[in-house]
Amino acid sequence: MKSLRTWILCAVASAVSVTAVLLLRDRADAQVEYKSGIVWPEPEVVTPGKDNGPPSDAVVLFDGTNLSKWNGGDKWIIADGVATAAKSGITTKDSFGDCQFHLEFASPAEVKGNGQGRGNSGVYFMGKYEVQILDSFESKTYFDGQCASIYKQHPPLVNACRKPGEWQSYDIIFEAPRFDAEKKVTRPCIITVLQNGIVVQNHFELIGGTYYDRPAAYAAHGPRAPINIQFHGDPVKFRNIWIRELKEIVGKKPEPKEEKK
Ligand code: MG
Repeated sequence: MKSLRTWILCAVASAVSVTAVLLLRDRADAQVEYKSGIVWPEPEVVTPGKDNGPPSDAVVLFDGTNLSKWNGGDKWIIADGVATAAKSGITTKDSFGDCQFHLEFASPAEVKGNGQGRGNSGVYFMGKYEVQILDSFESKTYFDGQCASIYKQHPPLVNACRKPGEWQSYDIIFEAPRFDAEKKVTRPCIITVLQNGIVVQNHFELIGGTYYDRPAAYAAHGPRAPINIQFHGDPVKFRNIWIRELKEIVGKKPEPKEEKK
């Protein structure tokens, strides 16, 4: 008798389970896809470059042949597809705002000096915001001044430097600061840096221009300005420099629905 009751209980339990599964499946079938209603433009097609070369929509700033896109480029030494810093900094003839910037550099293979006196250069976006270039391979300086620092504002998250003389890469995402009509900052400058494929600055919000001799501070400026590569007395080598301007993709939001009365 007891076993019959157990059998009946088991049969009922199985029936309930099967019904539950079927109900859940039906509910899944009845799911309606969520749609935001935003009408997005189709993203442009960009063909990636080979071996860190420029993508199809990049502006090539140095392809190994000349520095004609730069003021002061005639002072640098170009040989074997490489530009070596000399005499003074170089500044792009064109102006840029938000961008993705790729550059490859090599500190002098023959090590001279120490700290800030060893393979010093730097990329100054808008002539004001420096991502430091330095030979920081087994070489110490103040941490917010070592290679891949935002100069005097933020050390790199890690030291990703290769040995002196070896080629290294920077991939930098730069967002220009925004100012209102009263010249107040409405959005700070933001910089992300990958050095040799390693994140070393992660969406860092700058507190102003990067200066050697005074605190960081903002001074209102336009949305675009030239980029400068520093000459700090050291023959740092450069190759493969390109830039892509960044534009936000903007969708059209749906009209708000009228409330039913
Ligand atoms: Mg520097």
